[in-house]
Amino acid sequence: MTPPIHAPMTSFAVCGDDLMVGGVTLAQLAVRVGRTPFYAYDRAALSARVEALRTRLPAAISLHYAIKANPMPALVCHMARLVDGLDVASGQELRVALDAGMDAAEISFAGPAKTATELAQAVAAGILLNCESMREIELLAQIGHELGLRPRVALRVNPDFELKSSGMKMGGGPKQFGIDAELTPQALARVRELDLGFEGFHIFSGSQNLRPQAIIEAQQKAYALAHKLAVESDVDISVLNLGGGLGIPYFPGEQSLDLAPVGENLAELVERARQDMPRARLVIELGRYLVGESGIYVCRVIDRKVSRGQVFLVTDGGLHHHLSASGNFGQVIRKNYPAAIGNRMQSDQREIASVVGPLCTPLDLLADRMELPCARAGDLVVIFQSGAYGASASPQGFLSHPAVVEVLV
Ligand SMILES: *Cc1c(COP(=O)(O)O)cnc(C)c1O
Repeated sequence: MTPPIHAPMTSFAVCGDDLMVGGVTLAQLAVRVGRTPFYAYDRAALSARVEALRTRLPAAISLHYAIKANPMPALVCHMARLVDGLDVASGQELRVALDAGMDAAEISFAGPAKTATELAQAVAAGILLNCESMREIELLAQIGHELGLRPRVALRVNPDFELKSSGMKMGGGPKQFGIDAELTPQALARVRELDLGFEGFHIFSGSQNLRPQAIIEAQQKAYALAHKLAVESDVDISVLNLGGGLGIPYFPGEQSLDLAPVGENLAELVERARQDMPRARLVIELGRYLVGESGIYVCRVIDRKVSRGQVFLVTDGGLHHHLSASGNFGQVIRKNYPAAIGNRMQSDQREIASVVGPLCTPLDLLADRMELPCARAGDLVVIFQSGAYGASASPQGFLSHPAVVEVLV
């Protein structure tokens, strides 16, 4: 049996031995950036991704970008022109979203432990708050009263189902996210008493899913739950956020998600909503699916060592910049991200090598015994699928090495 391999990486062109980024060789880009390590995000690839997704989705679906996947301000500006809305998860992300020029009407804010200050920021900005608890509902009423503004609220519901075979479960069972479905009628009654501007529901059940059937099932169940809650409490819904969960292939054996069935199912839900809740706009909010494949992490080989027969490419980059590629951001069993030597793309001299970083821990591993072109000091190691949950999801202060640079090309 042949071992599973990585899905082909097609977001970046190859010209001879060089990986190309935004029309220049990676080596030239590295000079232009001025130092390694860096993340490079490709504008054309980001635009193409949104375009390709739009052709599969019914036109009536609103596409939101969840900026926690990659909050680099220049990238958020680029995305803001391509999508219908932005989802933020903190007061700082809200500032980035507003700076990017997104209409406040199309920004929503989800996340537990929103502080009173963050809630006030959101009310003052006029964005939609996805409420996660009774405390938030009470506080919003108070803040609205103080500011003389009517807070716009949706209830984030912790559903009574889970997203099957998901990388990370965000709903179902006991969770810190959202209001349990069975407590939602009570929360709705309170929202009504306090005269908050109720707009609808947000049901996000999980992340990084590559199985269309599982995503379809979760979206159908989210729809059915929202409809049931709306009917039972006799509320009018203008927004139904069905969450996201669309995954990208990271590990050997994984393949790109087949979007066709997901799009068809959403088209059916749009049709049903025309009958069931005619004022409601259906929203999906995606992070990694929109930006993950359009980014690479680049670090330089500082030293090549052979220890008892095993080759180590010791680089200036590591888990402090790219925690998820090291396997320490939620993976149960560590697996390799797709990787390459960006200035030896066509080399047929290959060997098994491990890519490690400068940190004093064996966890600082970017590739574990992977087949790669034979590399030397000075060469550029590339980790693909790095546009989401990279720099901002990594412990950059650990060991006090320089912070990573990010460029949008
Ligand atoms: C993290 C998050 C997302 C984005 O998840 P991805 O897996 O990156 O698509 C969307 N919505 C909410 C509420 C989130 O917390």
